[in-house]
Amino acid sequence: MKNLYNSINQKSIIIIGGGPAGTACAIQLKRYDISALLIEKSEIGGLLINANRVENYLGFPDGISGEGLIKKIQTHYKKNEIETCFENVVSLEYIENNFIVRTEKNKYFSEIVVIASGTKPKIFENQKIPVAIINKVFYEIKNIRRSQNQTIGIIGAGDAAFDYALNLSKYNKVIIFNKNKTIKCLPLLFRQSLNSTNITYLENRKLIRLSESEKGIRAKFIFFNKDEGYLLDYIIFAIGREPELDFLHSSVINCYDELLKNKKLFVIGDVKNGITRQMSIAAGDGVKTAMIIKDMKNIK
Ligand SMILES: Cc1cc2nc3c(=O)[nH]c(=O)nc-3n(C[C@H](O)[C@H](O)[C@H](O)COP(=O)(O)OP(=O)(O)OC[C@H]3O[C@@H](n4cnc5c(N)ncnc54)[C@H](O)[C@@H]3O)c2cc1C
Repeated sequence: MKNLYNSINQKSIIIIGGGPAGTACAIQLKRYDISALLIEKSEIGGLLINANRVENYLGFPDGISGEGLIKKIQTHYKKNEIETCFENVVSLEYIENNFIVRTEKNKYFSEIVVIASGTKPKIFENQKIPVAIINKVFYEIKNIRRSQNQTIGIIGAGDAAFDYALNLSKYNKVIIFNKNKTIKCLPLLFRQSLNSTNITYLENRKLIRLSESEKGIRAKFIFFNKDEGYLLDYIIFAIGREPELDFLHSSVINCYDELLKNKKLFVIGDVKNGITRQMSIAAGDGVKTAMIIKDMKNIK
């Protein structure tokens, strides 16, 4: 069957995703002289680009900004000269003992696939967002992190909502809207946010409508049976994340457990870590997976 494939695109290992999990896996494989192709749709470093300050990664006693850590990961990754394609994986199939990884431009084949595709944001579905303001509505902050003098609303009450607020409040006014009174973020993030003069935290505000206004967005909330309106330049939904697995084809879904058991398929990092989504865990998953793959290759 293999001779039907373009031999250049036949790989022994493909890693999907270049965040901490995927890059750690690729770097550890490289240490064993095992070649792998890493496919990343955006930039090496992953979700951390959104992080204000990472304070729990060993080796950085004073913490490091998400952007700073990404730069270090990129330098480390580049130094290892790993084969990399910057393409979006649209489908992962498994046919006749081989994976087919399709991107928007190419088709690759591989015996082993490591999925390290992280998470995607949960989309606000309570109402339709008007087309006129769609370019002012975000689910992550990477594209507006350099904004200045804007009024930015954040919907949510978890770590991401408060972390985004701290990041953006350096040069903007930020209002965090919590739909009830429960706060789900680290006490440290909450305290820091309350101490910032540029952050306003509001509870019991349920978003009911978004519309266009002369400033940008008019956001209408219900607050104890009363309507409240806010004029915002941008709005960010930080209402949770879910595994990024849209590219899984039924041929993989149908034998998913078997592929995992037979160590043909590995799923690592945030994409499978549920609520324990942390950089150190993702990077650890990557290193561990590379070690398992190395052992398998030794057995062969
Ligand atoms: C605001 C914020 C603050 C955080 N702060 C901290 C912190 O202080 N400490 C900490 O430990 N963790 C923190 N995290 C969590 C940390 O960022 C994640 O745990 C870590 O990035 C997970 O790594 P990963 O490689 O599993 O996934 P990701 O970092 O999400 O990487 C997945 C990669 O896969 C790529 N990808 C996805 N789909 C495809 C596809 N179809 N084709 C090709 N490529 C694809 C993505 O572009 C991405 O680069 C924070 C996260 C956020 C959002």
